[in-house]
Amino acid sequence: MSRSTREPGRLPRVDLPTDVRLETIAVREGLPATPWGENSEALFLTSSFVHPDAATAAARFANEEEAFVYSRFTNPTTMMMERRLAALEGTEACIATSSGMSAIMLLVMGLLKSGDHIICSRSVFGSTIKLLQAEFGKFGVQTTFVSQTDVAEWRAALQPNTRLLFAETPSNPLTEVCDIRALADIAHGAGALLAVDNCFCSPALQQPVKLGADLIIHSGTKYLDGQGRVVAGAVCGPAALIDGPFMALMRSAGMCLSPFNAWVVLKGLETLSIRMKAQSETALALAQWLEVQPQVARVYYPGLPSHPQHELAMAQQGGSGGAVVSFVTRGDAADAARANAFAVIDATRICSITSNLGDTKTTVTHPSSTSHGRLTEPQRLAAGITQGMIRVAVGLEHIDDLKTDLARGLALI
Ligand SMILES: *Cc1c(COP(=O)(O)O)cnc(C)c1O
Repeated sequence: MSRSTREPGRLPRVDLPTDVRLETIAVREGLPATPWGENSEALFLTSSFVHPDAATAAARFANEEEAFVYSRFTNPTTMMMERRLAALEGTEACIATSSGMSAIMLLVMGLLKSGDHIICSRSVFGSTIKLLQAEFGKFGVQTTFVSQTDVAEWRAALQPNTRLLFAETPSNPLTEVCDIRALADIAHGAGALLAVDNCFCSPALQQPVKLGADLIIHSGTKYLDGQGRVVAGAVCGPAALIDGPFMALMRSAGMCLSPFNAWVVLKGLETLSIRMKAQSETALALAQWLEVQPQVARVYYPGLPSHPQHELAMAQQGGSGGAVVSFVTRGDAADAARANAFAVIDATRICSITSNLGDTKTTVTHPSSTSHGRLTEPQRLAAGITQGMIRVAVGLEHIDDLKTDLARGLALI
């Protein structure tokens, strides 16, 4: 049996020294091994758990004793992932969800009621905008969308019923960075909470709670799994919220992560730090190279000094720009710019043409016609997304091979 500590009536904890670093947490935090002593975490594919007697079952259902009951809300594999991710984010607790979108649904349903108000960046993930505006709007939760980077706009949008500020940084695909500490101060001054979607940086680069954020949202589908295998999500935050309203809602609504997908993410977390480091280094080198290509009109990458929020990004993201780079191909008229962008994408032989990101395989996408295809052209232009723009989510291939892959298409335009 592995080293563990246990309080009466509580599930045991891994006995880790308190001062271990992120890389160590990423491979060690979880639950103690079973009596079989497995070194790699076990996958518990079971829907329910057996109790020794009726009285114990009653105590467990009444939450008097912490135990595994039913996999809609408690499962050892899922709990290992939750404990590990919470420790990486520096929060007390975490609850895993079936997808990144269901994490946001859990957040809003768990915290807000009809008549409440949200302030959200205009540059967040497209489905987040749809969920807040169209779906929660139906239930009387109103959202005001504001600038990603203008803190004054967030402050001006406050209302007496504002309960939540929601940010995502850096944004997709323009990599605009918002000031987490400034937004936390605005939220707390108004008695509201700040939630940050930390999908693009992951806790390996950015820990928003250290900058004052209250809740962290994850799409585990991206860097946490990191190998493009599963759809997953999570909310990290204080135990009073996670084990309180969010757990109660999970029990009733059931947007739970399957133990199998939790296991995949759990094992993905073990390499999160080295992947983020390697992929970000390659992204920086690629961004620097793109910036001097004559066929490239503009590069968007927080790690470049030319990025408008470069200094803030470096301070907030542990000195790293992350692994997503966007650039605009030359071409004045929209049609010509689009043709050039398509030519570059179609000439790649290594990069995957897909709008997913956070994979070890580099992905390349044309935001205007895919992720942002549902917007009108004026809406896209207002958001700064032009027809010549290409987004590259850098993976683990060799930098020279990625340059060659993009140079092939650039030579054609
Ligand atoms: C992908 C993504 C989501 C949604 O996550 P899913 O796991 O696809 O539901 C939310 N936020 C950001 C920033 C994302 O990139």
